[in-house]
Amino acid sequence: MTADRPYLVEPAAGVHAYVQPDGGWCLNNAGFVTDGGRTLLVDTAATERRALALRDAITAAGAPLPRTVVNTHHHGDHTYGNGVFTPGALVVGHDNARAEQLAAGHQLEMIWPETDFGAIEITAPDLTYSERLTLHVGETEVQVIHPGVAHTTGDSVVWLPRQRVVFTGDLVFAGGTPFLAMGSLAGSLRALRVLRSLDAETVVPGHGPLTGPEAYDATERYLTWVGELAREGRAEGLTPLETARRADPGEFGRWRESERLVANLHRAYAELQGRPEGAPLDILAVLKDMTVMNGGAPILCHA
Ligand SMILES: [Zn+2]
Repeated sequence: MTADRPYLVEPAAGVHAYVQPDGGWCLNNAGFVTDGGRTLLVDTAATERRALALRDAITAAGAPLPRTVVNTHHHGDHTYGNGVFTPGALVVGHDNARAEQLAAGHQLEMIWPETDFGAIEITAPDLTYSERLTLHVGETEVQVIHPGVAHTTGDSVVWLPRQRVVFTGDLVFAGGTPFLAMGSLAGSLRALRVLRSLDAETVVPGHGPLTGPEAYDATERYLTWVGELAREGRAEGLTPLETARRADPGEFGRWRESERLVANLHRAYAELQGRPEGAPLDILAVLKDMTVMNGGAPILCHA
């Protein structure tokens, strides 16, 4: 196994996490639950090639191809590969995940025209829910829970109560910076309370290696810091970019994609201005500011 190849971890019997190092832009995690007779997949991958590699990993683990795919949210790194598993699988997601995915369409090809995504057919959830949904894979109960608007308006947490494993989607980036441009700061803090209430032992984050509930504490410290920066910066009449540039990131400076700070400040400012949680931001302006934060270098999709 080389450092950059995807790998499987089995935190409980029949429960597999599929980790794509290093968890940066476009390098999401997926996972699957199987009893040997049927398989439920959590998320896919950003490109056709990566989704096919995920499919091969499922087969190599001796599991049948999934009959169900649960999307933790609409972002293309988690959903672009859905079409590799349909029509054999039914795609499940939150009501808003479907709406957001259909609205976003081929957004990643527009942001990253140089990336070879392969033949991607936007495949939104056919089965949607609003608050929670329980699925069963043999003896394994799979709870799909909407924590409210957090990373996006249509997030789902996938919780296996018996195995005490949770797939958080992008509510948690292990070793990476949270990203709230399409979600909510206040909502992300509330979602951490939902996650804590589950009392998981193993946390499969949306990006980065497997972790434990201590990841919630680090995420909460970061979100609280962003909220304080936004209040101070706004009170002084600074733009989100000016606030981000003078901030001292401390422990968060070591996290991947630290340029997301300015995106998160755009979101925090919008909430201080009374805009609804998840209300659309000018994404191109946010991307431009992130490029400035990145020292002028473009934000790259690593898929
Ligand atoms: Zn995401």
